Amino acid sequence: MNKQQLLDELTTQGIRDPRVLAAIKKVSRQSFVAEEEQRYAYANNALPIGYGQTISQPYVVAVMTQAILKHHPKKVLEVGTGSGYQAAILSLCVEAVYTVERIKALYEQAKARFHVLQLENVHPFYGDGYEGLAAQAPFDAILVTARTEEVPKALLAQLAPQGCLVMPIGDEASQELVLVTQQNGQWHYQNLGAVVFVPLQPGII
Ligand code: SAH
Repeated sequence: MNKQQLLDELTTQGIRDPRVLAAIKKVSRQSFVAEEEQRYAYANNALPIGYGQTISQPYVVAVMTQAILKHHPKKVLEVGTGSGYQAAILSLCVEAVYTVERIKALYEQAKARFHVLQLENVHPFYGDGYEGLAAQAPFDAILVTARTEEVPKALLAQLAPQGCLVMPIGDEASQELVLVTQQNGQWHYQNLGAVVFVPLQPGII
């Protein structure tokens, strides 16, 4: 599959936000996948990036981005930088992206990619995303690219009043993408469909 075929497939799958489609068109996914995966760079599936982690499926990147853009965020936190691809897509759609990764080698690699691609509004951090980024909070939107059984409390605490959070919730056997918003002071959870993500893990390595 080439980039145009991927864009056509995403449109068929319901991705209609022009900002998301334009970002996927502009960002080279090849820049975020390993040498041996190059020929699959535009396949609509997750790919291994080492350390037992994966670059997310383009459709899932698009769904998560489209979901938060409906809420017009300016400042976004991503937990789980991984390859850096999701952060790169976000960087073309919002004013500022903060992204945190617990595996130092992946953090360093993504940071170098942001530099080469001159994505100056992406701010990479090495740390445990369970804690969010308290010093940079609040965020208009938080996007977590690894699953947990419950939304980490620290992340909800770092959302701006009209903020939203999107992440996979569940266990290895079954997970759903959930969009969390606040309505009249109460958390509101919307299910965006079944997904498969690696787990969020505590601590840094
Ligand atoms: N958004 C990434 C997807 C990476 S997979 C991309 O576009 O490529 C999920 C990532 O979350 C992995 O890199 C994993 O190391 C990271 N991760 C898992 N637990 C974490 C935590 N507690 N804090 C920060 N990153 C975490």
